Amino acid sequence: MNLRIRMAHRLIVRRYSSAPFLTTERYPDVRRGSYGNLGDAQVAAFERILGANRVLTCREDVAPYNIDWFKTVCGQGKVVLRPKNTEEMSHVMKICSENRLAVCPQGGNTGLVGGSVPVFDEVVISTSLMNQVNFVDGISGTVSCQAGVVLEKLEKALKPEGLMAPYDLGARGSCQVGGNISTCAGGLRLLRYGSMLANTLGIEALFVGSEGTLGIVTQAVLQCPIYPRSINLAFLTLKNFSDVLSTFALAKRNLCETLSSCEMMDSASMWYLENKLDLKVPLEHDSNTFFMFIETHGSREDHDEEKLSGFVQDAMDKGFVLDGITTNEPARMTNLWQLRERAAEASSKEDYLYTYDVTLPLRNFYDAVGVLKQRIAPFRDAKVSGFGHLGDGNLHLDVTSPSYSGRLLNAIEPFIFEWVMSVGGSISAEHGMGFKKAKFLKYAKSPEAIDLMRRLKSSMDPLGILNPYKVLPPL
Ligand SMILES: Cc1cc2nc3c(=O)[nH]c(=O)nc-3n(C[C@H](O)[C@H](O)[C@H](O)COP(=O)(O)OP(=O)(O)OC[C@H]3O[C@@H](n4cnc5c(N)ncnc54)[C@H](O)[C@@H]3O)c2cc1C
Repeated sequence: MNLRIRMAHRLIVRRYSSAPFLTTERYPDVRRGSYGNLGDAQVAAFERILGANRVLTCREDVAPYNIDWFKTVCGQGKVVLRPKNTEEMSHVMKICSENRLAVCPQGGNTGLVGGSVPVFDEVVISTSLMNQVNFVDGISGTVSCQAGVVLEKLEKALKPEGLMAPYDLGARGSCQVGGNISTCAGGLRLLRYGSMLANTLGIEALFVGSEGTLGIVTQAVLQCPIYPRSINLAFLTLKNFSDVLSTFALAKRNLCETLSSCEMMDSASMWYLENKLDLKVPLEHDSNTFFMFIETHGSREDHDEEKLSGFVQDAMDKGFVLDGITTNEPARMTNLWQLRERAAEASSKEDYLYTYDVTLPLRNFYDAVGVLKQRIAPFRDAKVSGFGHLGDGNLHLDVTSPSYSGRLLNAIEPFIFEWVMSVGGSISAEHGMGFKKAKFLKYAKSPEAIDLMRRLKSSMDPLGILNPYKVLPPL
């Protein structure tokens, strides 16, 4: 990109983001592959298939597709294609393949590891207009839909049939089924209903967890559980992490088959919710408090309510829990859940966020926060916080600083990945490897496994045009 174009690109990026940078500037080691360049002939060919209004080339229109949700990576894509069905998708992929144009599939662009936006000038293929629910079968408990159906829309289509989506995330208003399958999303109720892998019955191009590097998901059939007749939620305060673990163990014993979610937050993450989003925490707390959200799904309202209240009382009598609220009132539950679901949004509100999504053995779960605090102590204005899906052993470990600092990033990475591996964890829990973690894949996979992944990739994508620079480290 010449200087003038780059300056113009930056100006447009600034309108959408406070971050005046390009991924290639922040990660200068990454090199563009030997791909073709987009020209007028290719744009005209795309327009013949999709029509001019579904081929976006105007810089202002393309800019949002180049920036990720956290505004931490920014690509230089020049075109966005918006097919409506599998046939159109297959035609545009043929043109990309013939011209060796690298592509970046994009769903709701809520991915948190930089996988959903281009690094250089990859063609963005957005599935947003592939948004039809084909059918819902209330008896077998299945739904068939296109890849671009937003999770919230899926939930609305399932409810009249007495079903629910088998997963749920804070990003439900934007994330799409294809993106969820491609990242093998986890979420708030994996503890009860299992992963995308467990609930995806079939797809057109099924590559669960391959983050768009092996194929593009165009349609899917998912298995959907019955929408529960009774939902109850407990919001608890606790004085230390050891009590959090004891409470989780007690919840598993006392709530058994009804337990549907077990989430935790520390006081530093709650601070962002109160101070950056102005949300109110309805229980007294201080800077050492831990918070838990424990939810049940069942079929008998009075019984389930009594069961959850009994559990909270037991946890208080045992001295694990300081205080708690239980409710089955939908609006109250939604308000309480906001405190957990908007945690990522809150911590990225004004500051720069370095975020990690790791799996840890429960005995070491919260040690990660202490270890990282110690590591970055010399960076006075950096803050560390932790929250996550305790029930699945997934910790979202966040560091914030007033602005991006390469020195701080180098202090965190690869230190934190080495530490996670040393205690028997995994460097990627549910968000995938994307662009940001690709070079650290060696911490998660053996050289043999990485070699096998490369061979699989080259047999399925011989030109290497599918979402390059993601998941696999550069050779
Ligand atoms: C507020 C918030 C809360 C979140 N909570 C959770 C959570 O609890 N659990 C969790 O797992 N994640 C969570 N995430 C991360 C994110 O929502 C998930 O990764 C989600 O599955 C991404 O879906 P998407 O449609 O936005 O995909 P995108 O972000 O658009 O893409 C993600 C990856 O999938 C690829 N991709 C997208 N669509 C396709 C397709 N049709 N075919 C092939 N490849 C494709 C992209 O190239 C990219 O590599 C959260 C994100 C936010 C912003």
